[in-house]
Amino acid sequence: MHARIHIEQGDITLQQVDAIVNAANSSLLGGGGVDGAIHRAAGPELLEACREIGGCPTGEARITYGYNLAATYVIHTVGPIWGGGDQGEDALLASAYRNSLELARDHEAASVAFPAISTGAYGFPLERATRIAIAETLAFLDDNALPETVTFVCFDEATREVYESVLGDLSA
Ligand code: ADP
Repeated sequence: MHARIHIEQGDITLQQVDAIVNAANSSLLGGGGVDGAIHRAAGPELLEACREIGGCPTGEARITYGYNLAATYVIHTVGPIWGGGDQGEDALLASAYRNSLELARDHEAASVAFPAISTGAYGFPLERATRIAIAETLAFLDDNALPETVTFVCFDEATREVYESVLGDLSA
């Protein structure tokens, strides 16, 4: 479907990539879901590094090392909280992906893994979020040699099926 995009089902903390992306909240001080899993796997130094950064506005991204993770870097991005769709949610989610990919490129990360940002506790409708994630990534990869590959890590089968179907549509 697309040589530089992969879709996998599993736990993002186990990915053997240069950078994993965290669906953080704007405090960067840790939360539940994928954020909690990444902090548990990376160890306490990650929280210390995030505390020094001091927060991140919605739609932006910040980078730290990955500490105990296999990944060299964690890119922390803050997706929008779904508020019905007329509060700029689409553009903010697109910018979370774009800013994360820019940080990966600027740190020469060849391989990056993303979770399904905003689709858990933040309530963004899954298919709409997936279209934004994949369209933004395809556009970025068209213009940039790095990252070489992007893996979307889906936590469950239903999410993986949506990603596969949207990638089929958008890269056809
Ligand atoms: P948000 O607050 O941005 O909605 P969540 O962490 O609540 O973030 O959910 C984002 C997505 O991450 C959801 O699809 C959730 O199922 C998934 N997720 C939770 N834990 C993991 C994990 N360890 N690896 C990959 N994805 C995960």
